[in-house]
Amino acid sequence: MTEGTAQASTPTARILNGSAVAAAIRSELKPRVQAFAVRHGRPPSLHIVLAGDDPASHIYVRNKERAGTEAGITVTVHRLSSDVSAEAVRDLVVDLNRDVTCDGILVQSPLPGSIPKAAAQDIFDAIDPSKDVDGFHPTNVGLLVQGRARLAPCTPSGVIELLTREQIPISGLHAVVIGRSEIVGKPMALLLLERHATVTICHSRTRDLPAVAKQGDIVVAAVGRAGFVTREFIKPGAVVIDVGINRVDGREAAEAIFGAGSQRLADFEKKGSAICGDVDPSVAGIAGALTPVPGGVGPLTIAMLLKNTITAAEDRSSITG
Ligand code: NAD
Repeated sequence: MTEGTAQASTPTARILNGSAVAAAIRSELKPRVQAFAVRHGRPPSLHIVLAGDDPASHIYVRNKERAGTEAGITVTVHRLSSDVSAEAVRDLVVDLNRDVTCDGILVQSPLPGSIPKAAAQDIFDAIDPSKDVDGFHPTNVGLLVQGRARLAPCTPSGVIELLTREQIPISGLHAVVIGRSEIVGKPMALLLLERHATVTICHSRTRDLPAVAKQGDIVVAAVGRAGFVTREFIKPGAVVIDVGINRVDGREAAEAIFGAGSQRLADFEKKGSAICGDVDPSVAGIAGALTPVPGGVGPLTIAMLLKNTITAAEDRSSITG
């Protein structure tokens, strides 16, 4: 744990309520879902392929299924065993591509370890780009690079929705994205660039990361390390977006992150585990605005998945009738 962890600090940051923004997005989708259902005689449909028994994936898929159903979308989960072959998963994706009643396809990552990386990539690449509600297909990534994506990756587009709806300016500001993954860091940087931010992408080989991050008016942390971003990364008043979802199991780690005597530590003690972000809670004492974990970016990711599903359904029906 780096310096600054669990420092006593008076929270000054405005807490950005991702759950409330996600609820607003979801309620705006309802009339679109209903209009589609009236026009086509069926609701939009999302098919999720879930292979293996990764516990976190099962929780994510359950949440996506529940949210989709609540929004009026038909969600079908294809559960496959952990020893499923790459060919079988790919064949299922090809069948779903051909199914005219399927509007969106999501293959939950990670695929089982028995499927080699290249074969896993083939599976993701096999998804029809017009049904690719995760926005990971090379065609959709290319459109994103050109600033004309229809289906952009859900987590970074959720962050943009949050900033926009919370009236946080982006244009002309310096945004620092920590993390360069295909699903969060890179598309996040592209979406911020499209909205006229000056963007710096940091990663595991960036030198003097705290000093680089401290230049940011907006800092997006997508690293996957609990409490990694501490006060010395943050310029006073900066907007800090915490994408990280990290499970904390140990009492010592929980105290280091949440601080002795804190409510979060008391909650940890009751449950024996907790979820925390990549941003150390002490950052609330220096940032101008901050997303909580949980209740920040996570709910927005699901809301944007539903939005992408209805967008895919509308776009395809405008072509196929
Ligand atoms: P990833 O492991 O694919 O990428 C992590 C990135 O962090 C890499 O680009 C790496 O260069 C960078 N990194 C690692 N160590 C670093 C270091 N010491 N200094 C600087 N950079 C470093 O992870 P990901 O898929 O991008 O996810 C990141 C986090 O966001 C995870 O905690 C994940 O669970 C979470 N996540 C949350 C949501 C959501 O809906 N809130 C969605 C996707 C991912």
